[in-house]
Amino acid sequence: MKKKIIGIAGNEIQDSGETLYHLPVSYVPNGYVKAVQKAGGLAFVLPIGEKVEAKDYISQIDKLILTGGQDISPKFYGQATSDLAGEGSVVRDEFELALIDEALLQNKPIFAVCRGMQLLNVAFGGTLLQDISYKSSIQHMQSPTPKEVPTHDIMLKESSLLAKIYGNVAKVNSFHHQAIDQLSSDFQKTAWSSDDIIEGIENQRQNLLGVQWHPDFAYDALQQEMDLFNYVVNSL
Ligand code: MN
Repeated sequence: MKKKIIGIAGNEIQDSGETLYHLPVSYVPNGYVKAVQKAGGLAFVLPIGEKVEAKDYISQIDKLILTGGQDISPKFYGQATSDLAGEGSVVRDEFELALIDEALLQNKPIFAVCRGMQLLNVAFGGTLLQDISYKSSIQHMQSPTPKEVPTHDIMLKESSLLAKIYGNVAKVNSFHHQAIDQLSSDFQKTAWSSDDIIEGIENQRQNLLGVQWHPDFAYDALQQEMDLFNYVVNSL
């Protein structure tokens, strides 16, 4: 069978450090690449480009993965930037919003992780909480606990795509200081933590799936996270 081509939206860093001579680089975290390959997919890195190129990029792939990273500019959900917001990248926001629009037009499934899930919600008219550290009883930024270690429980909605993989209750890792506030009416909340932070969303009709945790950090340590990539590559 022909391998599914999985486009992974890339990020940029202006100073890559000593090993790479401080060059500016385009990249995706290797966890996404390795997990897609392990699931039998063909991983394509989609570097940040011009919005008009989104159509051609999307036409080359079967599915899109939106990864974690910078905070999304609040201008995309109609708010001023709070002092608590972290570093952003408007060019990345704009290019990925164009990728989402094109994926919807071309009926290509989207799997969105962390920032990616938040961006998907924003693309459909939802809003974000710019910082949750003040409000939550749960530690959602778990460093320095190792990245693959699950640290907080989630509850999952019965009969959701995620519940088929994780059951009704599971434990996941957590590396976010922002979260979905108003969820777009195009999505169902399918996973949440006990402090009522949204941890998973889906739209089964349009094949859109988002998680707030990082399966890319744990695909080789935890079967449930590899099962999620298997689902994304082969069934979403
Ligand atoms: Mn969390």
